[in-house]
Amino acid sequence: MTSAADLARLAVNLADVRERIEAAARAAGRDPAELTLVAVSKTWPASDVLGLWALGVTHFAENREQEAAPKVAAVLAALATGPSGGGGPEAGEGTAVAGGPPAGPASPVWHFVGQLQRNKVNAIARWADWVQSVDRPELVASLSRAAVAGGRVLTICVQVCLDSPGGAGAAGRGGVAPGDVGSLTELVANAEGLRLAGVMAVAPRGEPARPAFARLRTVAERLWRDHPDARVISAGMSGDLEDAVAEGATHLRIGTALFGERRPVP
Ligand SMILES: *Cc1c(COP(=O)(O)O)cnc(C)c1O
Repeated sequence: MTSAADLARLAVNLADVRERIEAAARAAGRDPAELTLVAVSKTWPASDVLGLWALGVTHFAENREQEAAPKVAAVLAALATGPSGGGGPEAGEGTAVAGGPPAGPASPVWHFVGQLQRNKVNAIARWADWVQSVDRPELVASLSRAAVAGGRVLTICVQVCLDSPGGAGAAGRGGVAPGDVGSLTELVANAEGLRLAGVMAVAPRGEPARPAFARLRTVAERLWRDHPDARVISAGMSGDLEDAVAEGATHLRIGTALFGERRPVP
């Protein structure tokens, strides 16, 4: 369970983050209910996930399979047996940042956002509902096989590299070049067990985030011509969520601003 001190810390941070998101949405003339907060819980314990869950956060993301699998199991076990009896977030505190649906999911929705290695795909497919970091064709077949074998449907975002040509580049933040997004999304859209949701990106280092997110929006708009339902734009972290909301992001991946400065991974 979450200690009272941790719950208080998380509640203050969450209120701050929600305020930032709502202000950014207002500034962009957007409805905050279109924005999904995804709490990036890497390096933080299951008790913190349970704390945010109790406060109404329903989406969580991890970037390392070895860390995520036991954490997800611990969260599910606590929700099944804990004093809250598995009751999810309070009514009215659903998926969206504000004014969400009256009832959220029965358990957290888990996203994988880390670099994908093919030998980890089967393990990830056991706990992840979303995989946001698909950036190579060979991953698509592996994910599809794993999803079908597990009787699951994985929601997929293709990760786009936003390094500007001639920019700092080679920073290794992952992602497929914008010009290759079309062929990769076709593979995902046609793969059994996978649902194409949209695109994900991390702002490049050493460049302003806003023009990079504007490039991502252009990539997304091109994708919508062939896949009008693939509307997800996953962009924006603790330091640049306002820029992401201004450029059409639908899913904000927030770690530090919710949990605190990351601790070293054991
Ligand atoms: C860690 C991480 C985040 C969250 O970053 P913060 O700056 O802590 O909010 C978002 N996306 C990805 C892919 C990450 O690895």
